[in-house]
Amino acid sequence: MPNATRRDLVRGALAGGVALGLVDGARGTARLGDPQAPGFYRMRLGTCEVTILNDGARSFPMPDRFVRNVPRDEALGAAQAAYMPPGQVTVPFNPTLINTGAKLVLIDTGNGPVPGAPVGRLKANLAAAGVAPEDVDLVLISHLHPDHTNGLKTADGTPAFPKAEIRAAAVDWAFWMNDDNMAKAADAITQAYFANTRRVLGDLRDRIGTFAWDEEVAPGITALAAPGHTPGHTAFAVASGSDRLLVQSDVTNIPAFFLQHPDWHVMYDHDADQAQATRHRFYDMAASEKALVVGYHFPFPSLGHVERDGPGYRLVPIAWNAAP
Ligand SMILES: [Zn+2]
Repeated sequence: MPNATRRDLVRGALAGGVALGLVDGARGTARLGDPQAPGFYRMRLGTCEVTILNDGARSFPMPDRFVRNVPRDEALGAAQAAYMPPGQVTVPFNPTLINTGAKLVLIDTGNGPVPGAPVGRLKANLAAAGVAPEDVDLVLISHLHPDHTNGLKTADGTPAFPKAEIRAAAVDWAFWMNDDNMAKAADAITQAYFANTRRVLGDLRDRIGTFAWDEEVAPGITALAAPGHTPGHTAFAVASGSDRLLVQSDVTNIPAFFLQHPDWHVMYDHDADQAQATRHRFYDMAASEKALVVGYHFPFPSLGHVERDGPGYRLVPIAWNAAP
């Protein structure tokens, strides 16, 4: 490019920048520190509408035994390969709302209100998506871990979805609400989970029903056995017309670790060997079917396809589509 032409381009660009207020600070209008865009993503599934709602994400120093059966350095290598903050691991949380045309069904409820934490955004993102809490007809709980149940309560302890029927997997409910099981809990994490179920769900006992595996829990929504992460951990298949979506819940935690390495055991799995077997069975099914999968702990909007990749699997995220 001749020098004169390049000079003209630079001069033109500067003049344009000044006109836009980008160069002259006194005339600039750009602000810093605005909040993030609302986190919801909508898509059609047959005659249903599916909305993924982001509850936020947590980054925290990787615990020593985050992956129980590999050395910490190897797990940190996977975090680095996924460009997580140095020494940390990032876990997102994404509940799913299904509008069947007749009912609004929410699957899992996020972390609930946690002051100062970068989570608990479900309520705000529901509002941004145009849904009031009292519009929700049915809440399905995939398993009784705090990041899935605690959004059932508001900050003042009242029910967050006052008109909704609430149902949890029968096997999980029976396990976590049993005091003998609580007395036998050996490790601190499991003890904390038991304490949390009583704190959050104790006074909702009479309002919470259960469902069985293979039951059609709402029109087109079937509960699928996916035990291991917890005894009654449940995934869901949502079918409408010829479309099918697999709501995997926590078949795996973050995909950069446990989808790529399905034989790695995350510290939160109740029965690690059973969870590993469930992962293989579930992802072999998803890969064979070429099914669309939503993962509670996948990066938002947490939708993609799963492919076999060597001894593991890989997630092929969907591209953002402006038209639902
Ligand atoms: Zn979870």
